[in-house]
Amino acid sequence: MLVNPPARCLRVALPVPLPRVFDYLPPPGLEVDEGWVGCRVRVGFGRRELVGLVEAVAVSGGVPSESLKPVLERIDAKPLLPEELLATLRWVSGYYHAPLGEVLATALPADLRQGAPLPDTGRFAWALSEAGATGLERLRRGARPRQLAERLQAGAIAEDTLELEATPWREAMRSLQQRGLVVRQALQAVPAMPLEPGGVTLNGEQATAAQAIVEGLGRFHPVLLEGVTGSGKTEVYLDAIRACLAQGRQALVLVPEIGLTPQTLQRFERGLGIRVHALHSNLADGERARTWTAMARGEAQVVVGTRSAIFSPLPRPGLIVVDEEHDASYKQQDGVRYSARDLALVRARALSVPVVLGSATPSLESLAQAGRGLYRHLGLSQRAGAGRAPPVRVLDVRKRRLESGLSGDMLDAIAACLARGEQALVFRNRRGYAPVLLCHDCGWSAECPRCDARMTVHGRGRQLICHHCGARRRPPTACPDCGSLGLQPQGAGTERIEDALAERFPEANLVRVDRESTRQRDGLSRQLQKLGDGAGILVGTQMLAKGHDLARLSLVCVVGIDEGLFSADFRAPERLAQLLIQVSGRAGRAEVPGEVLLQTHHPEHPLLATLLQGGYPAFARLALEERELAGFPPFAHLALLRADAAQEAALQGFLNAARTCLEGPARDAAGRPGGQRIGILGPLPAPMPRRAGRVRAQLLVSSPSRPALQACLAEAVPRLYDLPQSRKVRWSIDVDPVDL
Ligand code: ADP
Ligand code: ZN
Ligand code: ZN
Repeated sequence: MLVNPPARCLRVALPVPLPRVFDYLPPPGLEVDEGWVGCRVRVGFGRRELVGLVEAVAVSGGVPSESLKPVLERIDAKPLLPEELLATLRWVSGYYHAPLGEVLATALPADLRQGAPLPDTGRFAWALSEAGATGLERLRRGARPRQLAERLQAGAIAEDTLELEATPWREAMRSLQQRGLVVRQALQAVPAMPLEPGGVTLNGEQATAAQAIVEGLGRFHPVLLEGVTGSGKTEVYLDAIRACLAQGRQALVLVPEIGLTPQTLQRFERGLGIRVHALHSNLADGERARTWTAMARGEAQVVVGTRSAIFSPLPRPGLIVVDEEHDASYKQQDGVRYSARDLALVRARALSVPVVLGSATPSLESLAQAGRGLYRHLGLSQRAGAGRAPPVRVLDVRKRRLESGLSGDMLDAIAACLARGEQALVFRNRRGYAPVLLCHDCGWSAECPRCDARMTVHGRGRQLICHHCGARRRPPTACPDCGSLGLQPQGAGTERIEDALAERFPEANLVRVDRESTRQRDGLSRQLQKLGDGAGILVGTQMLAKGHDLARLSLVCVVGIDEGLFSADFRAPERLAQLLIQVSGRAGRAEVPGEVLLQTHHPEHPLLATLLQGGYPAFARLALEERELAGFPPFAHLALLRADAAQEAALQGFLNAARTCLEGPARDAAGRPGGQRIGILGPLPAPMPRRAGRVRAQLLVSSPSRPALQACLAEAVPRLYDLPQSRKVRWSIDVDPVDL
């Protein structure tokens, strides 16, 4: 009997939540060959059409060719992805246990993953036409088109410059174009920019650090650059990038989500004398695809981007920098839960380039790696410019009367600061008016009907908002439990502190910075502009921990951080310490000397006391010892299986079945990598057991051995998709979770 030989086929990764790839044939008349690998194809999938990427050519396991469908269209003639990037994405899929198709969908700009052709990477600028040079009078004064046209009177503006600014501009420009007042011009070459006149001369420590990085060019060379705030880490990056550019190589700089401001880009452009591309989630789809393509073609030399920029193609790789490497925004919290910081190391190794992890407060993981000699550990111990590190004064507020959360000493210090014509920053990491609405007669508090959480009071008491599901409602006039009219907002958020300060300092220029007050794009820069250079007060959340220098800022007041000392999350103290150091670092950046006031009910807390006496390095040593004793990362490796469902029974049913799947490989004592070295904890309720009306629980899988943990997950996770119990739940696996 004749059997059809198994077909050579194209193995296609598709953006569907299934842990597998799919086999297709080429269209009739075309051959299967290696040239397909890395190219996008359009295929029929069920009744839909999807765009996927050919991941490999293979022999379809025993399936006769008649039963395979041909792809509908080959989109790319040449591979879209360089080999290294495709290999990295395969690694991501394996390590984070996410389907390759979903990893590709995460890594590629939206336009490209939907099948668009590679865009034109030429640059364009807008300029006034001849008519526009004289005919602006007819435009309404103060309206967007008029403002835009007036800016163009000073000369043409590049589209990518406009794109980086806070305000939408396309609509206004189109209206000008329709009136014939502006023209769009191609920009020929990348204009060389004037190098910052008299750029800084590196000090000794900076020069040593930069040299150590440059010596590593051309090979994998991980460096932890631990430099106190204001020590000039950015100047070290710039110096190393210049050396990298001189070799004709590209540099990729990752910055935290709120760190990518026009000021940051400008600083890199001025320091390097070339155009620097930005890559972040606020870019229009077309612009993202253009920048990605400019990288792929080697036209873009330097990219500064947020988390997802780690997936930039680097055909001429030179250097990767991760600024503020401890920042939580490097970890993606949904979909493919990758860590861009960790991927920076993976890519640097694959590309044989140095990777610089910079921070004033490195993650405990990085410190541990450096301690084991796996990273070169470089330090910058002094502030570089005129500034001096500010001293910290602890205000013990036990038994003190607080006015909207502020102590008398603190208010006095703010008054003195304003009197000197300087600026004060009041840091409170809680937005809204008050965290709780409380009945003083019976203790009732307003809770979200859909979450296990209290609702936050907003709008000076006029509204209750749940920060977890967004639910809003009017506060009741009387207590629903006892009928009392004694309902009072309890505690103080940024809004209430702002009110109290406005009342106490009616003359002062007062600016609030939190998620509400900075809703628009670039809202942070705008709020800071409002503050100006004169005396004033800045109130806000952790959004204030970073951002450009405020030369007149001399006082930092920290209130209400005690929650962080007692949180159930084992990372909470580390985050608190990092936040404290970062916020404190905002004071005394220029000539004006600074001071930090820390208001607390727990001045003797060991972690806080250690931080204040020995600084971050002493704190980190103690925190690492505690992690080791408790068996937490970096001394153990974790994965978290999260699930939520409408019904508790469905949730428990799934997690119990999942536990059985995980126990199989975990329990195997027959000499396999799993063995007894896997611990499984749960099903446990999630930190918030009910959210937006769904019940939530989780399983924590841990092991002192990363390979053992990976082997266990590799065997168990694919089975979870097939569990009948999985149909009534939403679930996700998070490897190296940052929130437990
Ligand atoms: P970091 O990134 O470590 O917080 P920055 O690179 O932003 O520090 O530098 C802090 C300030 O010090 C900046 O205003 C910068 O221009 C200045 N600065 C950095 N290095 C030098 C130097 N070698 N000489 C003079 N000023 C410097
Ligand atoms: Zn009551
Ligand atoms: Zn809610």
